[in-house]
Amino acid sequence: MKKRRPFSIILYIAILALVFSLIFGIFGNGTDDVPYSTVVKLLADGQVKSFVVEGDKIALSLHTPYDGKSELICDLADAASFRAQVQDILDIQTATGRLESYHFVPQQGWSAFDFVLPLLIVGLVLLILWFLLMSRAQAASGGGPANNFGKARTTLGVPGDKKVTFNDVAGADEEKRELQEVVDFLRDPEKFTKIGARIPHGLLLVGPPGTGKTLLARAVAGEAGVQFLSISGSDFVELYVGVGASRVRDLFEQAKKLAPAIIFIDEIDAVGRKRGSGLGGGHDEKEQTLNQLLVEMDGFARTEGVIVLAATNRPDILDPALLRPGRFDRQIYVGVPDAKGREEILKVHARNKRLDSSVDLKVVALSTSGFTGADLSNLLNEAAILAARDNRPVINMEDLNEAMMKILAGPEKRSRVRLAKDLRITAIHEAGHAVAMYNLPTHDPVKQISVVPRGQALGLTWSMPKEDSAHLTRNEMYEQIVSLLGGRVAEELFLGDISTGASNDIDRASKLARDMVARYGMNKNLGTVSYLGGGEVFIGRDYQTTKSYSEQVAGTIDQEVKLLIDKAYQHCADILRANEAKLMQVADYLVEHETMTGDQFAACMEGREVGEASSTSLFDEHISKEEE
Ligand code: ADP
Ligand code: MG
Ligand code: ZN
Repeated sequence: MKKRRPFSIILYIAILALVFSLIFGIFGNGTDDVPYSTVVKLLADGQVKSFVVEGDKIALSLHTPYDGKSELICDLADAASFRAQVQDILDIQTATGRLESYHFVPQQGWSAFDFVLPLLIVGLVLLILWFLLMSRAQAASGGGPANNFGKARTTLGVPGDKKVTFNDVAGADEEKRELQEVVDFLRDPEKFTKIGARIPHGLLLVGPPGTGKTLLARAVAGEAGVQFLSISGSDFVELYVGVGASRVRDLFEQAKKLAPAIIFIDEIDAVGRKRGSGLGGGHDEKEQTLNQLLVEMDGFARTEGVIVLAATNRPDILDPALLRPGRFDRQIYVGVPDAKGREEILKVHARNKRLDSSVDLKVVALSTSGFTGADLSNLLNEAAILAARDNRPVINMEDLNEAMMKILAGPEKRSRVRLAKDLRITAIHEAGHAVAMYNLPTHDPVKQISVVPRGQALGLTWSMPKEDSAHLTRNEMYEQIVSLLGGRVAEELFLGDISTGASNDIDRASKLARDMVARYGMNKNLGTVSYLGGGEVFIGRDYQTTKSYSEQVAGTIDQEVKLLIDKAYQHCADILRANEAKLMQVADYLVEHETMTGDQFAACMEGREVGEASSTSLFDEHISKEEE
């Protein structure tokens, strides 16, 4: 749908400004043919036949053309001082007869242009103000027919668009089943209303970014073959009071006209935030918009064949009124896919890509625990780019491996110049992580150690979970803290000095420790109480409520966090001290070869010969598992 935007005002202004600057350019001042110094030079050289100074402008007439012109104009800063400066020259040139005549004419009052200019400016400013006032008034009154400012800027799923169906959404079987009801209803509303079934008219898709919420909503429309009006929550948020509300009104009107239809409000948290939570001004507008949304959702009858879908990754900040019965009373949780789901998603995205026969998507799926659909799509795309860059017709396993590393840690930076000293520090640091991991029973096995800088990191030690696991036990969390400290502890023990390279590790270790103590109730002294609440601190809502505990408890939390970290530090130091020789062996190997595979590392730790690197693939373990 093509619509006239309020931006056309800006277009008018731009055209006016253009016309204006043209006028300005033709009649205005900046018309010097030559600089002042050239004028003096031409006079001194006897090139000037005659000249007239009028006001502060000089018009020269030359004997021979200068720069292709025999008439020149130049601005003099001040005619009187010009005359004083060149009087000697004028006398000489007049005497030699080269300068035939000259006149100094005083400024002749105001030129017409001097009046026109300010008038034009004032007129223009008034015009702009008028436009702004008009659009504001119309928006507040719901928008007249000649004005589209208050209209909802929706995207209509025009027939003929590439239709998205449930086939394009892989995995997500639960979610699809729930949404199938909606599809059935939209296909044949009467079947449901006849027997008095209530179909929820608001469904909220909740889940982390990239899990396919938007995709699912599109698929529902595609499956049902109905109109799909999609709008993003941020489209309602405007500078002018009343615009958002009028857009909501318009959106529902459009949908009723097109029914059966789906209204999809993406990122609804932008408008649906809890009321009365704004910091600073501007929340009146948001409240009006939200109120209007609530009114519209209550207002349309179930028989009208309009279903409202919305998506958010922050359901916790939504206004509770939105979630009441009759509004978004059904929530569908769209989660991060499991291994089987990942495999299916990979298959969907591999449809239009050429894969080498060595590529086993099952293996890739097993190694990508925690990836969302968007991540997986990105992984395949990055791999395709790598293959294309090397002019290879198919994507192979190495491409996927490199793409995965790139996504997880940023591209390898082989060119970054490093000092030998830095390399040694990094090698000992990473060896410290790896040796600690190896000696922690619940820790995932080391997959690869590298001292090649990637992204922000100087080096990396990868560990790979053997399987997906939804829970982290207290022991696992504690051992993660120990392994995170491994780098710092190794530096301290074996270099006698510590570096800044561990700052990220220490951040993460501290956060884990704080979570254990104050979020998950894993500390004896503080008991099974969550002091940190569910989400991160959010400007606005949590502003007044960030701290729901006393200063004394805060002190205890800090103390317990420190105790926990200290304990982990000691534990780590014990491990590393007991394994000093092996750690040094690993570090030496890293200094020389830069990367060490999980197998090589295990061999070293078991006192076997460190063989050639078989492959540096992150998918190794699963490959060998597959072959068994
Ligand atoms: P969200 O709205 O939850 O942030 P999107 O729906 O925008 O996520 O998903 C982003 C992209 O990720 C999609 O365009 C699609 O390519 C891919 N994707 C996500 N989930 C799936 C899935 N279940 N099946 C196939 N592709 C998916
Ligand atoms: Mg989305
Ligand atoms: Zn580290």
